Amino acid sequence: VEIATEDGITGWGEAFGPPELTAPVVAWLAPLVIGQDAMAREAIWQALYNRLRDHGQRGLVVEAISAIDIALWDIAGKALGLPVYRLLGGPLRMEVEAYATGFYRRERDDHLRYLVEEAEQRRAEGFATLKLKTGWGLKQDIALTRGFRAAIGPDCGLLVDCNHAYDAPAAIAFGNAVADCDIGWFEEPVPPEDIAGYLEVKARQPIPVAGGEASFARWGFLESITRRSVDILQPDVAACGGISELKKIADMANAFGMRVNPHVWGTGVTLAASLHLLAVIPDNPPGLFPRPPLLELDRSPHPVRDAVTSMPPVSATGRVRVPEAPGLGVQVDRDALARFKA
Ligand code: CA
Repeated sequence: VEIATEDGITGWGEAFGPPELTAPVVAWLAPLVIGQDAMAREAIWQALYNRLRDHGQRGLVVEAISAIDIALWDIAGKALGLPVYRLLGGPLRMEVEAYATGFYRRERDDHLRYLVEEAEQRRAEGFATLKLKTGWGLKQDIALTRGFRAAIGPDCGLLVDCNHAYDAPAAIAFGNAVADCDIGWFEEPVPPEDIAGYLEVKARQPIPVAGGEASFARWGFLESITRRSVDILQPDVAACGGISELKKIADMANAFGMRVNPHVWGTGVTLAASLHLLAVIPDNPPGLFPRPPLLELDRSPHPVRDAVTSMPPVSATGRVRVPEAPGLGVQVDRDALARFKA
């Protein structure tokens, strides 16, 4: 989403959902935004949400609002000459440790072999933690996870994401079968609607449970936070309602002692918005040896992402700096955008 102000500032936003589905929602919402005070992002957020409350409390509508909200933060920063993290009252930190996402399934049979090759590449780039994708069937997932851990050795951080491929009994069986693999978190074990399933998985297997990328707005997170259905909450800035809403969700989670590690998947716009939030998300637990939030960084090839926006560099120790230019601090290549639009 691109929003232009009458005095010539352009803000960029991004929605997590499929463009062909979120774009019509943005187009429908646009007349409610055009002509408004671009600095009044909180008021605009409420007006947009309230307008579609009866029809769109989650999914595409909130994803479209997310994109508009992110663009308004970009505008506010550019108008004031300040990076977004400073508008949010940060920074608590200017550098965030990233973990490598990727490890997607390919159309060949030697899965463990190419996944381990990918792991070696990421470790050589500096990543200390990797996130393995599972969800190919319980037996196969257990063998894959055990084989992957054995191959990467005991010193590498390992997270597992099954993209809600299981029901509670299967997720519990998986968690117990890989209990000795030192897994940092077990992401989306069951479908996002199944709060009772999450609670069972948390109670009956030993790996900390993560989830939240498919939840929307503060009300969509309310139950998972108050019932503590996950150990690690993963709101996505381009889905949950934008920068304004993710900050509120993170503060709600903080009050309940939950870790917040935003889900990140998209272009440099989403990545920059996430980095500004990561500059202000509180350590959890607070104290002498805090555990700062991690940045999710997809390292798989992605022609649109790589052409449309510049991506911040990853240091030799797997860390990414929060952008310091005004607004989001991200450049969008209009030629590339036009090419992919065609
Ligand atoms: Ca995920």
